[in-house]
Amino acid sequence: MEAKVSIETARQKAELLAGGPVRLPHGFRLPFPASRSTAGPGAGWTSVVFSFGGTRTKKTISRDSGEFELASRDGRLSLTRSGNAFIDDVELVPTLMHAPYQAFVNIESKCVYDCKFCNSPRLTHDATKDLTDDRIVEMIMDASTKEGFQSVALTSAVTHSPSMTVRRMAGLVGRIRAELPNAPIGVEPYTTRPDEVDILRDAGADEIKLNIETFDRDIFEKVCGDMDLDHILHAINHAGEVFGRNKVCSNIIFGLGEDDENVLEGVTVLANMGAVATLRALRIDEMNSEALNDTLGKLEPVTAKRMLRLATEEKIILSRHKLSTLKFKTMCHACLSCDIVPFWDV
Ligand code: SF4
Repeated sequence: MEAKVSIETARQKAELLAGGPVRLPHGFRLPFPASRSTAGPGAGWTSVVFSFGGTRTKKTISRDSGEFELASRDGRLSLTRSGNAFIDDVELVPTLMHAPYQAFVNIESKCVYDCKFCNSPRLTHDATKDLTDDRIVEMIMDASTKEGFQSVALTSAVTHSPSMTVRRMAGLVGRIRAELPNAPIGVEPYTTRPDEVDILRDAGADEIKLNIETFDRDIFEKVCGDMDLDHILHAINHAGEVFGRNKVCSNIIFGLGEDDENVLEGVTVLANMGAVATLRALRIDEMNSEALNDTLGKLEPVTAKRMLRLATEEKIILSRHKLSTLKFKTMCHACLSCDIVPFWDV
């Protein structure tokens, strides 16, 4: 199946994802508020989603310096790289809540776990917001009235215990489902038991993301040592049965020192359970670099070529299993902003 964008656009997207921040021109005013996420690869940074050639990318922005620069001329925007032409014709896409067209809320940021790549628990109290359930529902209802609204998603750290977070999330899903009977709802919890998957499904969630983070067990032990990979795989297998095919996804972060074969074996194991991997290049920044370095030693930055190669290989595996990223209506496969998405970009 043909990708939705050209090979050149996919290459540009991969280079943007692998590269540094985008510097905004002096005095440039964004037409809408920038995204200040407390979860996901850009957590803790100020970002903007750029669309070009039929795809989009979320990038950290800076007023001072950056590998890329936004240029504005006669009302048209383009991106340059170190002063050289890079992408003509870009547009800025508003993030409804965290993601374009989605009300995607992180309900808790304080975390009992200490995954070395994750910035959420490293954020200051200010950034994490401490939202009450009433406030979350109110914010989502408000977003649902905005132009472009398509879906709702909830993610979370684990502030007390996985089961308490799942129950809180399920309560929110139930309230949102009652208010928005037709909106697709995605959930991204850490579960330790299959019945927690049922609780979320019964509350009205349509899609679920259960992240294995890495399929390399030695690396998993080092970076997510307090979590249990087998519990997550068990939950994914169960989710494949209760949510159905093309409704379950799972992050596999690459760039932690694993090889491509291991990443693709993970993709295949997930596909056998009806789940679609979200292949995500590791982002190393000031917040997570020390923990990653202490745990895994010096890591090679992920290249644009590796992103494109793994996404292309994933597409072959998914096709063989009659799975597709394009069926998702919530979370990262629908958002497109942080990864090279098989079937869309390659
Ligand atoms: S791709 Fe996923 S993590 Fe990135 S902005 Fe979109 S929803 Fe958030």
